[in-house]
Amino acid sequence: MKCSVCGQRAQVEVRRRNQAFCAEHYRDWFVSEVRRNLRRHRMIRSDDRLLAAVSGGKDSLVLWDTLTRLGYRASGFHIHLGIGDYSRRALETTRAFAAERGLELIVVDVRQSFGLTIPQLAHVTGRAACSGCGLSKRYLMNRVAADEGFNVVATGHNLDDEAATLLGNVSHWQTDALVRQGPMLEGREGLARRVKPLYSLTEREVAAYAFLSGIEYQHEECPHATGAKSLLYKEMLGKMETRMPGTKQVFLEQYLKKIQSLLKSGLPEAGVELKRCERCGSVTTGQVCAHCKLWDRAYTRAKKRRLLPEDASFDPVPKIHVFGEAAGTK
Ligand code: SF4
Ligand code: ZN
Ligand code: ZN
Repeated sequence: MKCSVCGQRAQVEVRRRNQAFCAEHYRDWFVSEVRRNLRRHRMIRSDDRLLAAVSGGKDSLVLWDTLTRLGYRASGFHIHLGIGDYSRRALETTRAFAAERGLELIVVDVRQSFGLTIPQLAHVTGRAACSGCGLSKRYLMNRVAADEGFNVVATGHNLDDEAATLLGNVSHWQTDALVRQGPMLEGREGLARRVKPLYSLTEREVAAYAFLSGIEYQHEECPHATGAKSLLYKEMLGKMETRMPGTKQVFLEQYLKKIQSLLKSGLPEAGVELKRCERCGSVTTGQVCAHCKLWDRAYTRAKKRRLLPEDASFDPVPKIHVFGEAAGTK
């Protein structure tokens, strides 16, 4: 197999595109795909302040790397979830990545901020770890972006993630989620714009880029990920992709291009009045947001079990640690 650009021996084959590349031209191709996504959807505009959500895994570190290569000064944001050694290694990996490149990294430790780790939160509330974790991550991303003056949050979702989410939403006809799904979700008052610059690149392509660029990332999965439905959807789509290269891309891109607008126009206007949470001030539909409700409930139960002192009460203001240099825009 030869590189489609220079004719040297190819190291990576992109079957869905019928192309193959040597290491150098693969990296160029990958970065140009990210650039194309950013431009096509006008994800980042001048004067934007950009925060990249970084877990320490390959997707988020590749995202941060490519944004930096394209000239964007994105600050990183890492949430220390308190999931044993997994979280400790995730933080170490992320800090090493940022320090090597002189990038600013903002870290919030869930336990230090809110009093309990994610596994403790799951234990006292009786809910699956991913449910409280997902809620806390969304809250913290919006909150830290707003408090620190970032109007765009970039995440490392890849094509496999997006196609699996689409399959999950279609399987259950989650119309609200279907109309919101996409590479960019515009911001509104109190909520930063959400962008996914890697949305058109497969997990395998992201891993190949990380390997060829020498990016040290955390390989281990979160111990709570086993049994997640998204893994089943990914496995099914993976089987289809092997038989029919390009399936994931067509499934997602054609949905976004042909179906989503039809679905949007066929649904009644949501017309939900947005308010500010009485406890934390974040945008919500009720008086108190789901995140404050969850943590208030957790505090009541944790105090009964003597995990927290009797006079403790949930404070929604996260404690922020900043490492490295302050980032500007491009
Ligand atoms: Fe959080 Fe679940 Fe993801 Fe682990 S697998 S990081 S608990 S959402
Ligand atoms: Zn080449
Ligand atoms: Zn709240």
